[in-house]
Amino acid sequence: MTWDAVVIGAGPAGAVAARELARLGCSVLLVDKAHFPRPKVCGCCVNGSAVASLRRLGLGHVLANGVPLRDVRIGAGRRAATVKLPGGVSLSREAFDLALVREAVKAGVELREGVTAKLGESDAVTPEIFVGHERVRAKVVIVATGLGGSDAAPDAGSRIGAGVVVPADAVPAHFTPGTIFMATGFGGYVGLVRVEDGRLDVAAAFDVGFVKAQGGLGPAAETVLGEVGWPRPPKLAELPWKGTPALTRHARHLAGERWFAIGDAAGYVEPFTGEGMAWAIASAAAVAPIAARAVQQWHASHVREWERAHARAIGTRQRVCRVVSRVLRSPRLTTVVVRALSALPILSRPVVASLNRRGTPA
Ligand SMILES: Cc1cc2nc3c(=O)[nH]c(=O)nc-3n(C[C@H](O)[C@H](O)[C@H](O)COP(=O)(O)OP(=O)(O)OC[C@H]3O[C@@H](n4cnc5c(N)ncnc54)[C@H](O)[C@@H]3O)c2cc1C
Repeated sequence: MTWDAVVIGAGPAGAVAARELARLGCSVLLVDKAHFPRPKVCGCCVNGSAVASLRRLGLGHVLANGVPLRDVRIGAGRRAATVKLPGGVSLSREAFDLALVREAVKAGVELREGVTAKLGESDAVTPEIFVGHERVRAKVVIVATGLGGSDAAPDAGSRIGAGVVVPADAVPAHFTPGTIFMATGFGGYVGLVRVEDGRLDVAAAFDVGFVKAQGGLGPAAETVLGEVGWPRPPKLAELPWKGTPALTRHARHLAGERWFAIGDAAGYVEPFTGEGMAWAIASAAAVAPIAARAVQQWHASHVREWERAHARAIGTRQRVCRVVSRVLRSPRLTTVVVRALSALPILSRPVVASLNRRGTPA
């Protein structure tokens, strides 16, 4: 069968792109190697920009069960500063991604779960895709395979990600719903937030050497929490931690003959500012009209068009995030910033506003 579009990966980027393409009249096959609901290492904070994009796409209701976020508390050394947030919610990735996949199916997308897909050879007209043992063809392929599935090259010295979810009955009272707790330390940082069912999502970015020196992801998280003096959930290090590949990476190519990369597969910057899902959704919404035109008539200029649109939708926002993550590499500078913020919280306004400003470009 030849589909108008095959979307590989059904995270936020793939699910939203598939839905948008179906709404533009395309026949769409959405493939994911996992079964939904599935867990994902993530801070689970859907920021103001992502919320605005979802509303604009008519998807605001998928956040109905999310916990509204009031502020972020940043710890460095024994200091802490609280910065107000202009919006956003926390929602587990099991619930969020499942809701988006269901919306795609509602729009007419065909979903295949539990199957790995791989790009095969392209003939003159349509690329071939291996969906498990089946071979299908598509006029256009959207690569939304996230960090692990992309061929984006990691930056030298990039941190790795880690995450675990603490059961609701083991969460210390310190971690109140509606606040993001960010503990920063010498080897990385740990973010903690309550999600819709009371569990505590814990997500971290660590230097590889620090994890080795601490004896694993869990002990590394315990050390960082100890540095800021926050309580540690009991037996945190013994919970089933999951790691990710190197976080900060550049895509070698954003598009090619009849394919487009979106979301993390198009490049990523480490997650302190909690923006990845906003980028994923923005890139999905921005690629859909270009891909729908490519379905009608492929033209080599679509590659450049997507590179430019991606830079407009995501580029500036990733630059802000890069600057923040560079500051965090220096524990001394982080402590100075946290001191300044605790004295004058207003100083955070430009960065917070810039990160939450725009939703999906029209
Ligand atoms: C530690 C950490 C904390 C984070 N915190 C936040 C946060 O608080 N807020 C925020 O907005 N972002 C955060 N992010 C970033 C966010 O998780 C990602 O940016 C976001 O999930 C990207 O969405 P995506 O759809 O591109 O990829 P993903 O969500 O990774 O989805 C990719 C999908 O593709 C599937 N897949 C991969 N390869 C194949 C294949 N060959 N065939 C079939 N299926 C395939 C996978 O199973 C997966 O379901 C964080 C990330 C990390 C690592």
